[in-house]
Amino acid sequence: MRKIFTDIPNEKWYDWKWQLANRIMDVESLNKHFPLSNEEKENITKVLTKFRMAITPYYLSIIEQNNINDPVRKQAIPSIYETIIDPTDMMDPLHEDVDSPVPGLTHRYPDRVLLLTTHICSMYCRHCTRRRKVGDNEDSHFPKEQLEKGLEYIKNTPEVRDVIVSGGDPLTMSDNQLDWLLGEIRKIDHVEIIRIGTRTPVVMPMRITENVCNILKKYNPVYVNTHFNHSNEITEDAKNACEMMADHGLVLGNQTVLLRGVNDNPAIMKKLMHDLLKIRVKPYYIYQCDLSEGISHFRTPISTGIQIVENLRGHTSGLAVPHFVVDTPGGGGKVPVMPNYIISQSPDRIILRNYEGRIVTYNQPSVQKVSPAKAPDDIKKYYSKDGVANLVNTGNETVDYKKLAKEGPKHSEKQ
Ligand SMILES: *Cc1c(COP(=O)(O)O)cnc(C)c1O
Ligand code: SF4
Repeated sequence: MRKIFTDIPNEKWYDWKWQLANRIMDVESLNKHFPLSNEEKENITKVLTKFRMAITPYYLSIIEQNNINDPVRKQAIPSIYETIIDPTDMMDPLHEDVDSPVPGLTHRYPDRVLLLTTHICSMYCRHCTRRRKVGDNEDSHFPKEQLEKGLEYIKNTPEVRDVIVSGGDPLTMSDNQLDWLLGEIRKIDHVEIIRIGTRTPVVMPMRITENVCNILKKYNPVYVNTHFNHSNEITEDAKNACEMMADHGLVLGNQTVLLRGVNDNPAIMKKLMHDLLKIRVKPYYIYQCDLSEGISHFRTPISTGIQIVENLRGHTSGLAVPHFVVDTPGGGGKVPVMPNYIISQSPDRIILRNYEGRIVTYNQPSVQKVSPAKAPDDIKKYYSKDGVANLVNTGNETVDYKKLAKEGPKHSEKQ
């Protein structure tokens, strides 16, 4: 039950356009629904000179008032720590703008691209990685001509088989805009799957209507990756939104950001993973917090993430164990990090330890130098041509060792 906005009738409350139009964006309106001390008001005002605030009435309503440690509050309400720029902070830590062949499109990995569609989110996360862009003052979706350039690039790049539509939050676009964009992507033969990255089910679940589900469904296989960080966000409304999408055949995943004071605890994370599975969302990634500006107070040591995985793997369903990844600064891409399970190895044996700490031995095949069977000609293209995979694959004949020795293995010189 709502404790604030009690005078708003349900037909307004459950209308996403009302939620969007009534976002809380300044200190005075925040104070009206959510009493703040003078010091808090001053601090928030300071932060707002640098970073925007916007909170949907719905998301504000799930914060426990008078609890400064509320995990939802920390994600939505600015903290004075955001004014601290740590020496390690960066504007564009992931080099999304550098690895961008056309504005708004990042092509980092060989076979998939990230297509940004809008600067708008219904709620601006305090820990946002893309805060250099998201919520800039324009409050705009990208112009159609820019999206068309992105589409043109995908059309002309046959190795792209996976398009990740993100932003901002693409589900802030109208049903018609989404229908158009996804339709254009689907027209491209070599695109096999479409992914949508959206926080809408978490911060404005009323956006998930039958109508938008039917639009997304037309372009299946569509994978929707959402962004729950704490079990408190899994409300009845969020549950309904996720279940409606799953009922329309959309496959749901979740990307959690590891945040100090929000979810940097193995018990909180295990509960979150279980609660996600109950609403048919498969935990996909836990991200190490990026080096974006003004979010150093959210960062944990990487070892916290390793400890969290240690508390999950083996102790609970494999389905509840996401990959913990560090999206490496400078555009190195995501690197999975996990506890060490290999204790030692020789050509004959590999010594592993399981989740209980029991040491187990696996005898390796006695005939050494067996290479993996060669793939039939018609599927040879599935051998990776890049990086370390290229070095170990036996199906490739094209390794230029001299060049590799000079440059080190790296991805995709496009041939
Ligand atoms: C995260 C990301 C992807 C997708 O990576 P997956 O590991 O396939 O989920 C693609 N492009 C960019 C630029 C990304 O940051
Ligand atoms: S939903 Fe994503 S893009 Fe939008 S503010 Fe949050 S983290 Fe940033």
